[in-house]
Amino acid sequence: MIDRRTRLSTSIPVGPKVPLPIPGNFVRLYDLAYNLWWSWDPMGRDLWGRIDPQAWAATRNPIGMLQVVDPSTWEALSASASFTEMYAEVVERFDRYLASDQTWFDVHHRNELDNPVAYLCAEYGINEKLPFYSGGLGVLAGDHVKSASDLGLPLVAVGLLYRRGFFRQAVDPDGWQQHTYQRLEMRRRPIREVLDPHTGRPLRVSVSLNGRDVAVGAWRIDVGRVPLLLLDTDLAENDPADRPITHILYVRGRESRFEQETVLGIGGARVLRALGIAPAMWHVNEGHAALSLLERLSWEIEAGSDVETARRTVADHTLFTLHTPVPAGNETFDPSMVASALDGTIPNVDTDTRQRLASSGSNDGHVFDMGALAIRLSDRTNGVSARHAEIVTEDWGQLIGGPALGITNGVHPSTWLGRAMCRLLAESLGGDWVDRTDDPAMWEAIRDVDDERLWRAHESQRELMNRRLRKRLREEYARHGQGSRRLRWLNDQLPADRLTIGFARRFATYKRAGMLFTDPGRLEAILRNPERPVQLVFAGKAHPADREGQALIKRVFEMSKSHQFEGHLFFIEDYDLRLAKTLVTGTDVWLNTPRPPREASGTSGMKAAANGGLNLSVLDGWWAEGFNGTNGWGFGEYSTSDDDDARMLYELIESQVVPTFYERDDSGLPGAWIQMMKSSMITGLSSFTTHRMLIDYIEKAYLPLGRR
Ligand SMILES: *Cc1c(COP(=O)(O)O)cnc(C)c1O
Repeated sequence: MIDRRTRLSTSIPVGPKVPLPIPGNFVRLYDLAYNLWWSWDPMGRDLWGRIDPQAWAATRNPIGMLQVVDPSTWEALSASASFTEMYAEVVERFDRYLASDQTWFDVHHRNELDNPVAYLCAEYGINEKLPFYSGGLGVLAGDHVKSASDLGLPLVAVGLLYRRGFFRQAVDPDGWQQHTYQRLEMRRRPIREVLDPHTGRPLRVSVSLNGRDVAVGAWRIDVGRVPLLLLDTDLAENDPADRPITHILYVRGRESRFEQETVLGIGGARVLRALGIAPAMWHVNEGHAALSLLERLSWEIEAGSDVETARRTVADHTLFTLHTPVPAGNETFDPSMVASALDGTIPNVDTDTRQRLASSGSNDGHVFDMGALAIRLSDRTNGVSARHAEIVTEDWGQLIGGPALGITNGVHPSTWLGRAMCRLLAESLGGDWVDRTDDPAMWEAIRDVDDERLWRAHESQRELMNRRLRKRLREEYARHGQGSRRLRWLNDQLPADRLTIGFARRFATYKRAGMLFTDPGRLEAILRNPERPVQLVFAGKAHPADREGQALIKRVFEMSKSHQFEGHLFFIEDYDLRLAKTLVTGTDVWLNTPRPPREASGTSGMKAAANGGLNLSVLDGWWAEGFNGTNGWGFGEYSTSDDDDARMLYELIESQVVPTFYERDDSGLPGAWIQMMKSSMITGLSSFTTHRMLIDYIEKAYLPLGRR
């Protein structure tokens, strides 16, 4: 049995790393490249760019870069004292991180779990070069895994290896979203094949789909101390028709989606079992992985339990997290499709039992509901903010048998803080502040940070954002065939001292991305005010099947080119982890306009808050509990109509946001704004990190269920 955190990752056998031409004196770069820890360590992040800035800019991926570094570069680096020192220090930090036995979990709960927590999720946003995420859920899961590693929680994460990932977005000259699916370059990513502990050959489990056996393999990615296992059907031994099952994230067809979820749930449980991992408890994160519960039910029945006893045993060790704001957003399938896909797949659970467990209230027998299935087989169900928990309780309370838990989402602090803010916090709070985020006394020190230094840190992040955005826009304009005069015009856009409002999110209708355009004349007056100008930066993808969302992107794109808004409104293509980081670290104001109560939590605003950005948001999701009157602006809590909400939004911008930003004191600083920034940072960093969230999960669910 695997029970030691420090051995968890290394105890899952994997195939070799790819050969990399690294000289002996820098051989530990190998280990650094194969563990994503570097991506959230402030010094680790800088190391790669020091090796070969151009190759790094082109690849932004250590393994890919190390494959192309010129041998003469190594000679120069060996002779550079500053590089060899930096290298030694990063290696030392890495080793110390992995070996630490004084993590939060060690200090508070050492030896309280005999086995790891299993965390199952359909997507993971760990790094922009690993396209296993589409949006909020994936980024949250990635941040969850990173915080589990930081806090020393023994956890093994399970997902799918999407070789074609989620689409990359480009916008054509007319504003229509284009979709491209790239091929994952496996040999250039820190991904290693999981081996069978008994035979030493690639691990295989089998999952039967529509009566045919499909082989499932697994890959391991090391995220600090946490192993992330990704399942894959694109294997030579599989029928060509079965190989693409795991290719595309949130694949459109219902049947292929169900096949994916079968591989994730049933394949996931079988892979853990084949590796000899017997989780202390299971966290099913959103309904996509709910079929794992039927597999575990089958194990209990096989061991001699009747169905009801088996159900209770499975539930006793399971937490289910719902992220959907309304039952309609929940994953449901046609029972007859499920029946033909799954008959013979789960040995001891017959069709009727399966359907009974997955039927939902009003539609008994007519749908196979992943949410209902997961709730029936979980001891605890939680929503992802206090408000969302109330909604989950209203919708599902009867099935849950009481109120849902509320565990509000968070963001991983070291991932989302910009460089300048990171440095400032280390100086103000001490270099180890990330390990003390559960100490409420620490945050007040932010109030004492020098106003000017805070403002300069923010300005330097904003400037970096503007440079990156201009570069992206230049590439887009050139691709659209714009002439050099137009490209040069861009150099003067996004000026440094202009109030910048960011809006980046999925273009789903309920997010109401068009709210600011309700009254174009009023918006124009705000943006083009000669003394107090404002600029808007938009980004976001619409699902490939969502025509309405795509039409909204087109509308924003067209307006950004219109005479009325040109130079004050920009749409930036291909919203991903990297662009998200650029925007949340650099914008002054983060705008969010969901239609309540559709925003289960939202997390991008937390990223902005941690960096001193001010939220201007509908009071829904996390902001309903995060807003305190001094850290940003809230509106639309009791939304009556889209037009009313828009009017409130304009009013706030005109009467509060713009004047506060441009009001400068004797030293030229926006004094009142800076106090709000401090308040915003304290809110974000003290209450809305994944460290705080993980501690909630550990104390409200992982330990109570895992110690049973
Ligand atoms: C944080 C993040 C999200 C989630 O943001 P919301 O607030 O839920 O809109 C989505 N996509 C990316 C790339 C992110 O980084």
